[in-house]
Amino acid sequence: MTIVGFPRIGENRELKKALESYWASKSTKEDLLSVAKELRAKHWSYQNNLDFVSVNDFSLYDNMLDLAYMLGAVPARFKGLEGLELYFGMARGTKDATACEMTKWFNTNYHYVVPELSSKDTYKVDISKIAAEYKEALSLGYKPKISLIGLFTFIGLSKIEGCACVYENVKKAYIELVGELAKLDSKVVIEFNEPIFVKGKNDLYVHIKEVYDEIADLGVKAIVTTYFEHSTEATSILLDTKIEGLGLDFLYGSKNLESLEAIAKSGKKLYAGVIDGRNIWAADIETKLKLLKHISSIVPKGNITLSTSCSLLHVPFSKEQEVKMDKEILSWLSFAREKIGELELLEAAFRDEGNKKVLKALEQNKKLNLDRRNSSKIHDKGVQERLASLTVKEREGTFKERIKVQRKELGYPDLATTTIGSFPQTPELRKLRLDYKKGLIDNITYETGIKDYITECVKFQEDIGLDVLVHGEPERNDMVEYFGEQMKGFVFSQNGWVQSYGSRCVKPPIIYGDVSRPKAMTVEWAKFAQSLSKKIVKGMLTGPVTILNWSFVRDDLARKSVCKQLSLCIADEIDDLQKAGIKIIQVDEAAFKEGYPLRAENIKEYETWALECFKISTSVARKETQIHTHMCYSEFNDIIKTIEAMDADVISIETARSGNELLKIFKSTGYANEVGPGVYDIHSPRIPSVDEMYKQILALLEVLPKEQLWINPDCGLKTRKWEEVKPSLVNMIEAVKKARG
Ligand code: GLN
Ligand code: ZN
Repeated sequence: MTIVGFPRIGENRELKKALESYWASKSTKEDLLSVAKELRAKHWSYQNNLDFVSVNDFSLYDNMLDLAYMLGAVPARFKGLEGLELYFGMARGTKDATACEMTKWFNTNYHYVVPELSSKDTYKVDISKIAAEYKEALSLGYKPKISLIGLFTFIGLSKIEGCACVYENVKKAYIELVGELAKLDSKVVIEFNEPIFVKGKNDLYVHIKEVYDEIADLGVKAIVTTYFEHSTEATSILLDTKIEGLGLDFLYGSKNLESLEAIAKSGKKLYAGVIDGRNIWAADIETKLKLLKHISSIVPKGNITLSTSCSLLHVPFSKEQEVKMDKEILSWLSFAREKIGELELLEAAFRDEGNKKVLKALEQNKKLNLDRRNSSKIHDKGVQERLASLTVKEREGTFKERIKVQRKELGYPDLATTTIGSFPQTPELRKLRLDYKKGLIDNITYETGIKDYITECVKFQEDIGLDVLVHGEPERNDMVEYFGEQMKGFVFSQNGWVQSYGSRCVKPPIIYGDVSRPKAMTVEWAKFAQSLSKKIVKGMLTGPVTILNWSFVRDDLARKSVCKQLSLCIADEIDDLQKAGIKIIQVDEAAFKEGYPLRAENIKEYETWALECFKISTSVARKETQIHTHMCYSEFNDIIKTIEAMDADVISIETARSGNELLKIFKSTGYANEVGPGVYDIHSPRIPSVDEMYKQILALLEVLPKEQLWINPDCGLKTRKWEEVKPSLVNMIEAVKKARG
């Protein structure tokens, strides 16, 4: 048995702290490296009973970046740098060079650094990182298995400039790298991570056989592992190569079962991904055993190695520190360390059926799963009945009819100005919320603090002349957590951190049961903010699909059903808001696109229910209530029909970094609803000039008419400082005035 990888951020986020202290020049390189070394040793110690410990799954920042660095695939703008300066320079930028882009790792919330490959590059292989970690593991008495991103995934996820020779050059360097690794030991085991294969065929498919044969010829034991979906097309090619074995995800890619006969015939080893690496629920060992029995009825038992469905990177470290969580719910969970325990139990049950101790553990596991299924904490009859009788409605009136009423009622001008919702989260604000949470201050003090912020925020927006105002979201720590904390069916861990990128971690809410909204979640703050101004203040909500996509979701109910429950809560909130006199309501769907399935054939289904959910939420809005939505993307080419069908009166999107090129899809498809393309990038501290935004607005006007356009920043302002926000928005208003003129 084995795992694909272990989380590296540390039980108490030691790596995060060490990195940030190093970046702030508060500690030395040696300090950082020694923390890293300790973490590796600690994490390997948990893998002691496995066939291997995973080496090179550790990274100071990201594994894609590691590989780029090891291959010497360095963008020209970083030339001259070396060592950690180069490595972190590529990740975070230097004063002279912008950082490499970052993007989501398949359909997870982990972000990798995107390598840039150009035909002008020359490569220089350096395996010292892996060699050192390999030796470390050996010296501690472990049997290492090297985790390495496969060539096809590496190239497939890179930004490529130039001709086909890029592939040839990178391949040459990659083979050289594996050749160097082969010299580390007599039979080095390397697990090549090739999740790109789950996306189906691409241009490079024709090279799979040649590359993996060449790799096997170098004398390494090569395992090629895919995850997050099935990889049927690649599997059939890989079985025809000289590799030792194949790792497949049987949980998120059950179609992989169809490859079993061929695997058996090939005689290859099978690394069977059966323990969930992406979710946090305790395994139902009995079901897993059934799955394994099926697998082993086709592939010989001796050829099967039990594994996780993917790296455990995507789950928190351990539930040991969750002392505050409801004990019953806690017993249903399993984080990375506990998952290794499950693997051990499953292995024992699989190989040693009659063992008394194992039988007892199986009984316990069975009881646990039965208790969970029957627990009154999970089931809410009211919610279930409401869901059963639910029909998805359209909004009242066509967009044309609605917008006529709204324009009259709301009275905003063409090129109306607004923001996306949040204003700067100051240290004082964070302290206020924390003090309140800890019980250090009373309700009144807290409320006064929040109201003061809202008052100032509204006043500022009035002063500079924004058309549609917001309250600024001072009461929210996070756009999902804020709502999750107020709904039934959610639980929050204290220490359930998962790496998002580099040193950044998120603590996803856990949806364990039927979801409902005991009372209004945002109405009081919205009402207060509206009472301060004659101008319209937008109500601000997070959409159901985004709440779902940024949470750990229960595995005993279909995702779409969970999402529908969330949709009803948001619908009720919209209704309460409009009854309270809020005339514009924004439903953020920042993570709508993130939930898209990896395989084209599954997209339709997702789109159907995600769209339905948005509609369940927003169709309660009256004709004259204007619904906005916001998405942190610029690329809408492939989803424009769905966006159109969502039928939000106004959508604000991120275009600041991509110019108006990507906006053209809204024109070419005849998208009729109003659009607010971001006119400046809030992800950077830079203050955009009037002129630059004026030009940006003119560029937008070339694509869409002024009646259809809103002017706003490209995302919420919470990560920025007031010193940046104030002049930026003043300039934005100035630019709009100039454009109107
Ligand atoms: N309303 C949210 C904000 O302004 C939206 C954040 C987001 O899109 N990620 O912070
Ligand atoms: Zn955004």
